[in-house]
Amino acid sequence: MSSQKAEKNSEFARPILGHFIDGKLVNAEGRTSEVFNPATGQVTKAVALAGRETYEMASSAAKRAFPGWRNTPPQKRAQVMFTFKKLLEAHADELCATITSEHGKVLDDARGELGRGIEVVEYACGISELLKGEFSKNAGPGIDSWSEFQPLGVVAGITPFNFPVMVPMWMFPLAIACGNTFILKPSERDPSASILMAQLLSEAGLPDGVFNVVNGDKETVDLILEDQSVQAVSFVGSTPIAEAIYRKGTEYGKRVQALGGAKNHAVVMPDADIDNAVNALMGAAYGSCGERCMAISVAVCVGEKVGDQVVKNLESRVKALRIGPGEDTSNDMGPLITLDAYNRIHSYVERGLEQGAELIVDGRGFKIGGNEAGFFVGGFLFDKVKKEMEIYTDEIFGPVLCVVRVETLGQAMELINEHEFGNGTCIFTRDGETARYFTDNIHVGMVGVNVALPVPVASQSFGGWKRSLFGDLYVYGPDAIRFYTRRKTMTQRWPASDKTEQAKFAFPSGGS
Ligand code: NAD
Repeated sequence: MSSQKAEKNSEFARPILGHFIDGKLVNAEGRTSEVFNPATGQVTKAVALAGRETYEMASSAAKRAFPGWRNTPPQKRAQVMFTFKKLLEAHADELCATITSEHGKVLDDARGELGRGIEVVEYACGISELLKGEFSKNAGPGIDSWSEFQPLGVVAGITPFNFPVMVPMWMFPLAIACGNTFILKPSERDPSASILMAQLLSEAGLPDGVFNVVNGDKETVDLILEDQSVQAVSFVGSTPIAEAIYRKGTEYGKRVQALGGAKNHAVVMPDADIDNAVNALMGAAYGSCGERCMAISVAVCVGEKVGDQVVKNLESRVKALRIGPGEDTSNDMGPLITLDAYNRIHSYVERGLEQGAELIVDGRGFKIGGNEAGFFVGGFLFDKVKKEMEIYTDEIFGPVLCVVRVETLGQAMELINEHEFGNGTCIFTRDGETARYFTDNIHVGMVGVNVALPVPVASQSFGGWKRSLFGDLYVYGPDAIRFYTRRKTMTQRWPASDKTEQAKFAFPSGGS
């Protein structure tokens, strides 16, 4: 280690997390960023921010590894995935503790996140079946035609802070199982879990260079987008960045899927089971401190009576939320990710008040004895929210639930359909006709009926509509197989040796 670097390390007096490239941990060079424990508000480590030299090591490793991995039989690739799944399960405690210490979410929630990631790995174990091509016998006289799905080459993933294990696993297990090699750029706010997953993949037998983790920020992302070797980019994060990445990535000729932000509405109908609806709203609005892209941030109550009942029930429940460090398994909600997030939420709450919303539960000034510097807030509940208010239009990404009151289902649906985001939504009702009408006509990508967090299972695919997704294909499930492969169609004839084909000048059609 150079003396300059040693000095920098001692100045931090904390470890610096590097990268995982070509099957090895690579030390940090150059710029770094601080990683906090949100429950204590203390810096626990620094993470390297890769510049060109480090990035190019990863890109070259992924490029070198591609031909061998592409030609590895899918069954062998599935075996690596199967061993990886076992290792994820064996290291679940370590992974979840890592998530909680850098993200802040409660351990049970971290376990749920890991479980959902593992489900994608399980789906990837069926890659031989998923990659089966399509065959048409006798497409013409003596002609057979078939399609196969070939991997793209080097592909990349850029992920947000709020699911440091699950969102990367929305991408890399299927990308790799399809025969691609992968460069992951995780969030610089909670990067450690990605390095752990890379080590487990190596232990599972993945050849060096097939999966690489490059830590970094915008500068690193630009290197990915400008890299001619990278064929496709999966992005998950906020809408302005998703849009910018989609534009730049496609401009550089890449296939891009960029999932953005959300404002998810739950409609509560007069015939709904209010107790069940409120229970579901509590988890969906305040779980993970509201830092989920599928979090419910608006409850649309149809009818004043429903509004009164929902607000009354929610008020006592929000006040009773158990808030504290995620390691304490009795807590419902941990801290926010950063001081910036803390300040952003406070400023939205103030604007909500200025713009005339009624603050029923105020989570400002919430402190935990012994963890005064942690990024904790209480739960917030606003009533009488109107569609012009910023707390309604914007994604706040915190434990802030807005109640909007309307008179009819039609008005509720108009509100949702007019909103710029279209990630998730749900309806609470006991009526099948209402539910069917809602699911059929709502302009949102993922819809729940009496299910507040309708996150699709691994064998479906996940994605939103409108400004919640830039691109055509969803992540994981069958869409991922299409996203991470390119179709090739063969048409084949073996003429009989005793027959001479005559020249034909008409364009072949109709099986002739
Ligand atoms: P973010 O957009 O700030 O960061 C996401 C990634 O982009 C990170 O890896 C970050 O390093 C990188 N990045 C940040 N600024 C960049 C820039 N200017 N240029 C290039 N790259 C940049 O998002 P976040 O705060 O980490 O995550 C929260 C957001 O993610 C919320 O908006 C949430 O709704 C969204 N999200 C969406 C989904 C979904 O499926 N639609 C899922 C999870 C999170």
